[in-house]
Amino acid sequence: MLAVATTIVHADQKRWWSHVEALANDGMKGRNTGSPEHRRAAEYVAAQFGRAGLEPAGGGGYIQPVKFRTRQIDEAHSSLALVRNGKAEPLTLGEDANFSMRIDPSPSVEAPLVFVGYGLNIPEQHINDFEGLNLKGAVVVYLSATPKSLSGPLQAHFGSAGERWQMYKAAGAIGAMTISNPRAMDIPWSRSTLARLQPSMSLADPALDETAGQQFAATVNPAHADKLFAGTGHTFQEILAAMDASRPLPRFALPARVKATVAVNRGEVESQNVAGLLRGSDPKRRDEYVVVSAHLDHLGVGEPIGGDRIYNGAMDNASGVAAMLETAAELHERRAQPARSILFVAVTGEEKGELGSKYFAAHPTVPRDRIVANVNTDMFLPLFPLKTLMVLGLDESDLGSDVRAVAKDLGLAVQADPEPQRNRFVRSDQYSFIKVGIPALAMKVGYEANSPQAAIAAKWTAERYHAPSDDLQQPIDLGAADKYVDVLRELALHIANRPDRPKWNDTSFFKRFVNAAPTATARP
Ligand SMILES: [Zn+2]
Repeated sequence: MLAVATTIVHADQKRWWSHVEALANDGMKGRNTGSPEHRRAAEYVAAQFGRAGLEPAGGGGYIQPVKFRTRQIDEAHSSLALVRNGKAEPLTLGEDANFSMRIDPSPSVEAPLVFVGYGLNIPEQHINDFEGLNLKGAVVVYLSATPKSLSGPLQAHFGSAGERWQMYKAAGAIGAMTISNPRAMDIPWSRSTLARLQPSMSLADPALDETAGQQFAATVNPAHADKLFAGTGHTFQEILAAMDASRPLPRFALPARVKATVAVNRGEVESQNVAGLLRGSDPKRRDEYVVVSAHLDHLGVGEPIGGDRIYNGAMDNASGVAAMLETAAELHERRAQPARSILFVAVTGEEKGELGSKYFAAHPTVPRDRIVANVNTDMFLPLFPLKTLMVLGLDESDLGSDVRAVAKDLGLAVQADPEPQRNRFVRSDQYSFIKVGIPALAMKVGYEANSPQAAIAAKWTAERYHAPSDDLQQPIDLGAADKYVDVLRELALHIANRPDRPKWNDTSFFKRFVNAAPTATARP
């Protein structure tokens, strides 16, 4: 009988972890977009790309500079109130509600409020939450959720802030107030509200701003949502109960107006995408590209939690960049000669709204119509052994068969997103590629619902996600990370070597973006 537990740490696992350490140590100060530490992280990635024999593919070197505008709320000179019967009832910023600086707000707004339930108008799905309501000049109030009748990817797509604003603008509204869904909050209000004082960013190129024209945006603490519903005969409890039971939500004009004064400190910063190319070997296919991506930025230095102000972002997403670097290194060591080229891209600005990838998709450093696929890694969470691979977008394109084949070879089961309500398919950089028509996938270490592993993942999210404790002092399963790198490496090769280009499934909602994609351009 053997009673000795032995942990064998392979060289590959050590190297993966060493990249995590290099990117997520306290000296990197959380790699905020635009910070000097993010630049250092980008230079580290560029150096590793060089060691892995990748060609510089950022335009002029490995680095592609990206310009941003920044906005930071000046709360001392801002105010938010509900006006009922001519009487203003102030809302406390930080406690009742917060302004969102993701949009460029008007300095002052006063407008009627209309509760629109889920706040969706999707004719092709026969959903119209605006029916019978006048939204002209109004601020819409909605529960940040989508009906369960929609498939996961549709919930994700139509639930996004950008898509929502297109609907509200078309209905004549001037802004939106979002009531966070207490059933699907990744992090509790008490923690998320701390981030409100951090600068928000948008791409400096106004053509890439999806919320142009939005004058007002705020998020409401669900525990205080009844302040909005006073005098309506409705309660937030009742609305949540209807959502839980999949009954239609009530929709009605609120007997109150919102009055807001917003003071904003504005600035500009530059940050970095980093791109390196493994040139393909097939004369016909080498000018086609499989993009392997992971975001490099995190949240920087912020409000302290437990005495720690550095948001290291070890799992989010030093871990994913490390997996990408390890993949490139292993391909180099094995002298891999993929038919198509593999383009590795570390993107900035993900935490600010997937902005670096959006910029790259708008200004790709290779011809856009030659990018055949994107495989993204964001916080793959190697917290327990990798037995099941979670694939976001599994059933949307025939990349699903590639990932199934690779997983089978590696003895892994495959699952689609077990929690579609968390909108993960649009919540990372793959979505920037999807929106210009490129088939994409993202992968994580999977788990069955209600399993011990699900509990570990949930606990991690509640305690460490976007918190300073996502640092180098946390239990990680190095074997799972190693296995994940195997998947990423083999999948990139598999896609690069398949005879035909990947395509969207005919049933996929996202297929439509192929035609919507702007004409291909390659720009330095
Ligand atoms: Zn994040």
